[in-house]
Amino acid sequence: MRYTDWFEIIDPAFRSLILPNVHVDLLYAGGRWLEGPVYVPAARHVLFSDIPNNRVLRYDEVAGTVSDFETIANFANGHTLDPQGRVLTCEHLTRRVTRREHDGTLTVLADNFEGKRLNSPNDVIADRQGRIWFTDPSYGISTPYEGSLAASETGTRNVYRLDHDGKLEAVVCDLEQPNGLALSRDEKTLFVVDSGTSPARLLAYDLDATGKPGAGRLFSECTVGMYDGLRIDALGHIWTSAGDGVHCLDADGKLIGKILIPETVSNVCFGGPEKNRLFITATRCLYAVFTNVRG
Ligand code: MG
Repeated sequence: MRYTDWFEIIDPAFRSLILPNVHVDLLYAGGRWLEGPVYVPAARHVLFSDIPNNRVLRYDEVAGTVSDFETIANFANGHTLDPQGRVLTCEHLTRRVTRREHDGTLTVLADNFEGKRLNSPNDVIADRQGRIWFTDPSYGISTPYEGSLAASETGTRNVYRLDHDGKLEAVVCDLEQPNGLALSRDEKTLFVVDSGTSPARLLAYDLDATGKPGAGRLFSECTVGMYDGLRIDALGHIWTSAGDGVHCLDADGKLIGKILIPETVSNVCFGGPEKNRLFITATRCLYAVFTNVRG
């Protein structure tokens, strides 16, 4: 396969973000539905979820091997790092967001909203202040395949922000299925995928000084398959999952190029010592590609 076969250039601007003679590496094949990758710089590994198999896997970038990290993983989905480098995890089965401390113990950060259990937290990010933002769609309670069948106690599917004082606030409440989320480089705009609409939509919310979102505006509609997870690079481009690979959007939401992947992509994260390697979870496989831009 020629390297050009991995990329679709829609706008010439995409050319400067990719490298010549770079291939997409297949790092692992053997999951059922892989999701939620996070790169952990201190360990030089990528943790990622295999939700239906109820496990978290670890790609060791030094050895180039994949092994089990957690084999009873509470049907974990999204992961991220907080500013202290601790791994945060969304758990479907236990319907909560947890933090793995430096000593290995788990701290429950959120498992209810106003006394009602969360649905099944899906994806999570932390801002520079250490506040935690996560989505809570129903995918982990609507089928036992990705968690356990259960009724929604909140009756809603929200985006939440967890503040330093432990207060959990529902900040976006008008989406069908809030899924992947990201903050702009200046942390003044919150991006959230709604994967419950057809086509799936990426919405942008301007945040006020306290972190309260204004009205959402449509930023982009998915043209192939479904948006799920996304990350933003150092120049402000959005790299989002889709049915035919990874779609790259510019700061105006225009699709400028694609990384073509032979399976449906669920999520991406930048990693590697230079933060210039995009790790891609795609159905059964973990892929990676070096880019010409840093995450
Ligand atoms: Mg997701």
